[in-house]
Amino acid sequence: MSHCILRIALDTPLHAVFDYRWPCAATERPQVGHLALVPFGRREVVGIIVGVADDTDVPEEKLKDALAVRLQLAPLPAQWLALAGFAAEYYQRPLGEVALPGVPKNLRLPTTVALDRAIKKLAKTAIGHDPAPVGMPELNPEQQRAADAIGGAEGFAPMLLYGVTGSGKTEVYLQACAQVLARDEHAQILVLVPEINLTPQLESNIRARFPGVMVATLHSSLAEGERMLHWLAAHQGQARIVLGTRLAILASLPHLRLIVIDEEHDPSYKQQEGLRYSARDLAVWRAWQLKIPVVLGSATPSLESWHHAQSKRYRKLELRERAVKQAVLPAVKLINMEHDKPDGGVTMQLKAALRQRLERGEQSLLFLNRRGYAPVICCDSCGWVSDCQRCTAFMVLHKGEFKLRCHHCSLEMRIPRHCPTCGNIDLQPLGRGTQRIEENLREWFPEARILRIDADSTRRKGSAQEAFDTVHRGDVDILIGTQMVAKGHDFKKLTLVGILNPDTALFSQDYRASERLFAQLMQVAGRAGRTAQAEGGSASEVLVQTRYPEHPLYAALVRHDYDRFAGALLAEREQAGLPPYLYQAMLRAEAPELAKALEFLQAARDCMQGEDIAQGITLNDPIPMSMTRVYNVDRAQLLAESPSRPALQAFLKEWMARLRDMKSRVKWSLEVDPVDI
Ligand code: ADP
Ligand code: ZN
Ligand code: ZN
Repeated sequence: MSHCILRIALDTPLHAVFDYRWPCAATERPQVGHLALVPFGRREVVGIIVGVADDTDVPEEKLKDALAVRLQLAPLPAQWLALAGFAAEYYQRPLGEVALPGVPKNLRLPTTVALDRAIKKLAKTAIGHDPAPVGMPELNPEQQRAADAIGGAEGFAPMLLYGVTGSGKTEVYLQACAQVLARDEHAQILVLVPEINLTPQLESNIRARFPGVMVATLHSSLAEGERMLHWLAAHQGQARIVLGTRLAILASLPHLRLIVIDEEHDPSYKQQEGLRYSARDLAVWRAWQLKIPVVLGSATPSLESWHHAQSKRYRKLELRERAVKQAVLPAVKLINMEHDKPDGGVTMQLKAALRQRLERGEQSLLFLNRRGYAPVICCDSCGWVSDCQRCTAFMVLHKGEFKLRCHHCSLEMRIPRHCPTCGNIDLQPLGRGTQRIEENLREWFPEARILRIDADSTRRKGSAQEAFDTVHRGDVDILIGTQMVAKGHDFKKLTLVGILNPDTALFSQDYRASERLFAQLMQVAGRAGRTAQAEGGSASEVLVQTRYPEHPLYAALVRHDYDRFAGALLAEREQAGLPPYLYQAMLRAEAPELAKALEFLQAARDCMQGEDIAQGITLNDPIPMSMTRVYNVDRAQLLAESPSRPALQAFLKEWMARLRDMKSRVKWSLEVDPVDI
């Protein structure tokens, strides 16, 4: 019997593909892209065939047989493997480690029971063939122009849809989708959103508008069975629209014709562990590879995308006005906390504005990006503070649960009755989180319906959705929340937004902090005044409590002037030699002792010296991370930089090979294009 050799990528940290023998003649010949079950160490695992060959360098006695090939599942297309290959190379990871997590777990099981049942179920699913949308509103001329530009684009066409909050970007996407679906009976569209759970409106909108096409969703809170069904629907070309979070960028979509990235500035497009990829960057690469349009939508684009738009690499489509007639952007006012000293975290002026909204039956939103009751408790007599024993961080007071909790390692303890050092029984909370503000609000406005939305209040599955429904129904007078409430919600009855304590981010060491803060404030401000002002109702306003009212960031916020602010930030970045004018990669190391982590990084730095370092590459000194210790390990980092992306890529490739050869016991990882520095 004649055999062939299958080259298989497996989900392991080893930078290699593995050869297996397979009786090719006896069965249908497997193809590149098929999944195969193989023995690996003591386990049986599923990998992806990335090559079929006649012979191998692996000696006969070491060569093992593949156990099965999943011929019932169409092979992953070459363009998909190319995407995984690009991501693996760009982020300096093995191919299998990138590609396999892109395939649902149920398809990677040793048995095919789940797979066969799936496939059967999908075969039975009636597929609509009517791409015609229903209930589409008439677009305003700006929206129409943008929709036509996207829907009619040919070839690789990256576009930035820059539209103020409430300008109706969603309708533009939907119209553009309708055009693409109508033109090509197989066309598939990928729509990426930061967090599906926080913005369920989009999913229901899409389903309602396109009743005749199959819509699949891909995000991390799907059950495995569901995830496999949706993934297969995309892979087999049945799903015409795939809506998902960042992980959906690795979905197999054989007929992909358009990619939409909503709220493209959102940090959740960056995966922060394992393969630290940017779904937005991969989306642009994927569009380039397939020669299709890609739309990045935002009211506050990332500086990277803004820079591309300014330099005409991306086409800029603008929506300058709110879509709903008479809905105007809220007036943004600064409250100087030096003059109007806050009591319980809220100034007189903001309290008065809240009272006025209550009297008129309108909704208010208070934004504070800090959950818990207080960020720390302390002892006035000896200076003890509630440090986490495992992290360079405070234990946060969660008063309702009688607990202190570390938000980094999840360590919990009961609130001590007295100071652990001096015995003082009068321990004080310091600072304010959302729970404390909620408590204060209930005291000040006992008659008001108050709702808090943050990670603590929405732990239970489905509870975030319920909470947002309550707001949409109008059953809430005052909403208090973290960045969870800032995202794309279309709260129709909201006329006041209060921003409680934004100043801390102004002086962060992280050069991206001001970009992020500005985007966040613009977004949360954008929740107000989204409908026509009712007769006799309040004009919508945003009140920002600050000690630095003269700061340029706030001045830009007051003018809703993203353009100028982004321009100023870009000029600063260019001058300081920071991204997007410079490309970076961060090598991180962690060890029980800081010295070991630093020592490794120093060795990593030393292993590329002199002629090894191509021109234009800078290797900075190893330094401890600003939050050095998390869960009993110390962390340090070393930044590599270059004005040339290809130069940095070439350098990283060589560098990583040498680091792998060092076989250090220190745990290390590389992040290309890091966002938290
Ligand atoms: P954005 O995502 O740009 O912040 P949305 O897509 O949420 O804005 O739209 C804001 C509001 O405007 C929504 O209530 C939407 O239904 C409405 N809207 C959008 N386009 C139109 C239109 N052409 N005519 C009437 N209402 C519209
Ligand atoms: Zn004490
Ligand atoms: Zn901790």
